[in-house]
Amino acid sequence: MRFDIATLFPDFMETALNESVIGRARKKGLFEAHCHNIRDYTLDKHRRVDDTPYSERQGMLMQAQPIYDCWKAVCGERKPHVIYMSPQGATLTQKKSLELAQMSDIFILCGHYEGVDQRVLDKIVDEEISIGDYVVSGGELPALVLVDSVVRVLDGVLSQPDCYEDESHFNGLLEYPQYTRPEVWEGEAVPPVLLLGHHANIMKWRHEQSLLNTAKKRPEMLDKYPLTKDDLDILHKEFAENLKENV
Ligand code: SAM
Repeated sequence: MRFDIATLFPDFMETALNESVIGRARKKGLFEAHCHNIRDYTLDKHRRVDDTPYSERQGMLMQAQPIYDCWKAVCGERKPHVIYMSPQGATLTQKKSLELAQMSDIFILCGHYEGVDQRVLDKIVDEEISIGDYVVSGGELPALVLVDSVVRVLDGVLSQPDCYEDESHFNGLLEYPQYTRPEVWEGEAVPPVLLLGHHANIMKWRHEQSLLNTAKKRPEMLDKYPLTKDDLDILHKEFAENLKENV
């Protein structure tokens, strides 16, 4: 899989792309990432890539020409899927990351300043993706979030697929609580079921805890989850116990 990332901060992107899980995956050749400095494509003799907006708004906008020429030079005859990182896009989800992981060629445009001249977005962008309903100063951190979430589900990046299949959001639930050594810390013991090595019981505990964790932290996620009769029983039991404790 190949990512081309058009940015005003290629050094920042390179640093982040060479770290941790994605850095190791990149070194192993499990994916390619190429960062391109949009400034290298400007025709302005002072290397400017921005200008004032026509709408009488304060601030600056990225101009169409350097972005368009960057996209043309990078893509050549290739037709990558073009994503503009934007707070106006659809919010990135685990489902979307898994979908993008099926693609082989992705071009990401990182905006800056007050954003980007609409005409170049209309010409080259296939979809806009947001990392959440808030605004950050540039598309670089959002692009890194997207690349990381896609790369970690690629074959060979994590040691086993269940490293991400068991995680929050993969199957519509949040993850169960996790514990490591020591067995007792500050008087708090690890749940006994995890120490007995009975696989089926551990799997049952994990599912129950995932359900309860989701009900507690993100109850709206259960609206979309196909709850079984057993799941409903677990949730009702917990609800009844909580009620008892609070009367
Ligand atoms: N004026 C724009 C608006 O209100 O939609 C926001 C511009 S923002 C300061 C500059 C750049 O940061 C954007 O062009 C976009 O690339 C990126 N950006 C900001 N927030 C983002 C978010 N939540 N998700 C993805 N990209 C974001």
